[in-house]
Parts: sequence; C-alpha cells; structure tokens
Amino acid sequence: MIQDSAIEAVRDWVAGASRIVALTGAGISTASGIPDFRGPQGVWTRDPEAEKLSNIHYYMSDPAVRRRAWKSRVDHPAWHATPNAGHRALVDLERRGKLHALITQNIDGLHQRAGNSPDTVIEVHGTMREVMCMACGRRGDMQPVLRRLQSGEEDPPCEHCGGILKSATISFGQALVPEVIERAMQAAEHADLLLTIGTSLQVYPIAGAVPLAKGAGARLVIVNAEATPFDHLADAVFRQPIQEILPALCGAGTV
Ligand code: NAD
Repeated sequence: MIQDSAIEAVRDWVAGASRIVALTGAGISTASGIPDFRGPQGVWTRDPEAEKLSNIHYYMSDPAVRRRAWKSRVDHPAWHATPNAGHRALVDLERRGKLHALITQNIDGLHQRAGNSPDTVIEVHGTMREVMCMACGRRGDMQPVLRRLQSGEEDPPCEHCGGILKSATISFGQALVPEVIERAMQAAEHADLLLTIGTSLQVYPIAGAVPLAKGAGARLVIVNAEATPFDHLADAVFRQPIQEILPALCGAGTV
C-alpha cells in the first residue's frame, strides 16, 4: 500500500515536470540480456580478472588483454539485444515532451535503438558500436573490425597508421570527454526531476550529477535493486526490477 502511494506520488511528479533528466546505468539493460558489472550476476562480481579488460593501462600494455577484450567484443550480447520496457518508458517520456536529457553510462546504444533521439542521449562513457585508433584518433564503425576478427585477426591494428584499436568507449584510467561531461552536468543542474535508473552511482564524475541536481532544486527518484550512496538524498527509492517499475512510475501511455 505504501508502495502504491509512492508510485502515485512519482506519477504526479512526472505529470507536473517539464525538464526530466534520466541518468541510466547497466541495470536498465540487464533485462535485455546484457549483464552489469557490479550487480550480483555482474561481469566483475563473477570474474574479478575481467576488470582488466576495462582498464586502459592493461589494454595498452598487454597484447593478451587486448586479445581477450576483442573476443569479448565479438561475443558481446548487445549485438543481439533488444530494448526492454524500461528503455521504452523513457522513449514515452520523450514523446510526451518531458525528457530534457538522457544521460547514460551505457555503451550498448539501446536507448537509441528503443527510439530516443540521438540528440537527447548523452553517452558519457562512449559507445561500443564504434571503434577508435589510440594513435591517430580515427573513428569508424565497429562492424568491419569485428569481421576482421572473424577472419582470424586477434588484435586488429588501425588500417591507416597501424596503431592500437579500441572500442570508442571510455575505459577506466582514460580521460572523459570534457564537453560531454559538461553537457551532462548542465542538464542535471536544470532538471526539475532526476530519475537515476539501474546505476550503482559509484562511478565519478557522473555520480556527482545527483547531488548537483538535488542541490539545484530537482526532485530525486532512485530506481535500483541495490542501495546506492545517494539513497538518503532521494525523495523516493524503488528496488523493483526496472522493466516492471519504470513504466508504472513514468505513467507510460498517459498524456
Ligand atoms: P553497475 O554494474 O555498477 O550497477 C548496476 C546496478 O543496477 C546494480 O546496483 C544492480 O543491482 C542494478 N540492477 C541490475 N539489473 C537491475 C534490474 N533489472 N532492476 C533494478 N536494478 C538492477 O553499473 P553502472 O553504475 O552503470 O556502472 C558500470 C559501468 O559499466 C558504467 O560505466 C558503464 O559504462 C559500464 N557498463 C555498461 C553496460 C551496458 O552498456 N549495458 C553493461 C555493463 C557495464
């Protein structure tokens, strides 16, 4: 009953808001078959060694780490994943003209696949759908490089300069793109309602968007199966599966 009235309250906040900002993490994509890093079934929880694949220093210095990283890119579940009801609830918010920005730490591109406009989505950790040369900086589509892997290359170099290639994602130890972070922080500062969804809020600087938005007067709703360091700041916290609770909170389908 308390949960029902909490859901009703959030629906009212959504109805009254005009500049909603969503901050999403890996948890919104687990129902699409893409594991998170730190949840109970997370990639790093099950295999702590896998953390090295996301660390730029190991990646640049160890060919064995790169070979393993490329194999995990070829096998990545995102290539066959489809968006779920959680992603679709955020598309619905955008169609209703309420979504000011969708800041995502995800690299899987599922928000755009679901139908959110690329202009609304701010990918603070880049995208696995593109590749980047660490020497000459050229970017391109990931698919042709994956085909080189399938033809037998194990650590395909840049075809222009021979440099080390990597997915166009931000690894741990790698610099973020300042303009992208600035855009995300500005959006958070102008939000009237911040929804954080499926993120453990442990990765900075983007976790700092939460106290920033709250301090600037936004309501804060946290949707995550596990506790986060910002639950005490939240106006409401929901632990249910995102794909079930988010459509209810957003009042999906209402005007
Ligand atoms: P995280 O792994 O630290 O946290 C995910 C949280 O989501 C966990 O607390 C977990 O309990 C919760 N969760 C998982 N499934 C849920 C569900 N169905 N309903 C409710 N809660 C659920 O993820 P993070 O905060 O995004 O940080 C991890 C980093 O890893 C990010 O930088 C991101 O770039 C990257 N990452 C991205 C993907 C992706 O693109 N899908 C997947 C794994 C990791």
